[in-house]
Amino acid sequence: MRQRYDVAVVGAGAFGAWAAYHLRQRDKRVVLLDAYGPGHSRSSSGGETRIMRMGYGPDDLYTRFALRSMKLWREFMRRSGEQLFLPTGMLWLARKRDRYPQKSLETLTRLRVPCEKLPRVELRKRFPQFSLRGIDWGLLEPEAGVLLARRAVQAVVAQAVEDGVEYIGEAVETPRGGSRLDAIVTNTGRRVVADEFVFACGAWLPRIFPDTVGKRMFPSRQEVCFFSVAAGSSSYALPAMPAWYSYADNIYGTPDIENRGIKMGFDGHGPQFDPETADRIVSPRGLRTMREHLRTYFPELRDSPLSETRVCAYENTSNGDFLIDRHPDIENVWIAGGGSGHGFKHAPAVGEYVAGIICGDGRPEPRFAYAGKATVQVRSVY
Ligand SMILES: Cc1cc2nc3c(=O)[nH]c(=O)nc-3n(C[C@H](O)[C@H](O)[C@H](O)COP(=O)(O)OP(=O)(O)OC[C@H]3O[C@@H](n4cnc5c(N)ncnc54)[C@H](O)[C@@H]3O)c2cc1C
Repeated sequence: MRQRYDVAVVGAGAFGAWAAYHLRQRDKRVVLLDAYGPGHSRSSSGGETRIMRMGYGPDDLYTRFALRSMKLWREFMRRSGEQLFLPTGMLWLARKRDRYPQKSLETLTRLRVPCEKLPRVELRKRFPQFSLRGIDWGLLEPEAGVLLARRAVQAVVAQAVEDGVEYIGEAVETPRGGSRLDAIVTNTGRRVVADEFVFACGAWLPRIFPDTVGKRMFPSRQEVCFFSVAAGSSSYALPAMPAWYSYADNIYGTPDIENRGIKMGFDGHGPQFDPETADRIVSPRGLRTMREHLRTYFPELRDSPLSETRVCAYENTSNGDFLIDRHPDIENVWIAGGGSGHGFKHAPAVGEYVAGIICGDGRPEPRFAYAGKATVQVRSVY
């Protein structure tokens, strides 16, 4: 007889992997499917590193989600024996007029999250590798750091499989039919029957649900560059250099991790992007701009060779809030996505939240609701 699952989770990126993991922890019979494999290079979760920080301006919700996730990441690392988090700290570089870091400082202080306000002179002393042109102060989150993203997703899926989740490496076709789904069909013609379905398909969600989610999600093209550091230098690696973000230019970076060189990325939204068909080649303009930023922030590395590049998708909702809700037309289909360029760190809490609402004992968060997602983009969550 054909197996019937309690829940089928489509998409083994960070959100789907953690949803499957938590659902299994709650004794559900779970199948997890992915077209290209957990943490593959075109998925948003497929980069080497993702920053784990708690600061979200005045926003309690994501600060609390990050705190909960950090606890769950740590529990998972203890359980799996995998080292997936590097405690680099996170440094916000700010100008006098930047309100977001000031609000982050206030929220972190109120929630008793370790943080330090660093005047420019202190920044210069502690982080001499940065040039501080235009920077007035810094906010340091000493307990923040960097998650080894691809490895982490693969470890969560491996653990979920060990716990009893079935994994199928096939692409799921767009579900057709009425207000309830009996089964999904994969590219090999396999029918997967389940009571509930979670689509955690990242930037692919608009392709799968073009008439609904497709009008409320705005995948963007994001470029990342790695630059080499000088032979024998320790200034750009742990423990000397933190992960960082600069308000002045909306760019972020990580230290040299796994000897790849320092990573720099632009957090402003790039052009519209199709994760399925697009090539992953950094544009000459993007590269030129990033090198200018390299010269500004790290003059010592001004002529360092580019060591690697990435092109990745942000799966943006209208304002940056996640989209985790029932599908508007299909009662047993759930959407878990809209990480909007900041979702990776939150994946353990997102998975827990998904399991809670599917099991019927979670409290729905209005900000994650489909109903609140607009068809025009105005970003307010960073
Ligand atoms: C350059 C960049 C930097 C970022 N930096 C940070 C950061 O520092 N900190 C942070 O917290 N977040 C960061 N993010 C955001 C974070 O990486 C994403 O929000 C998160 O990884 C999204 O995970 P996901 O599971 O929703 O999507 P994905 O990881 O994209 O996973 C979706 C999966 O669904 C699968 N899929 C799609 N369609 C189908 C189908 N039809 N059938 C089967 N499988 C399917 C895909 O193959 C894919 O594996 C960054 C993102 C990018 C692009």
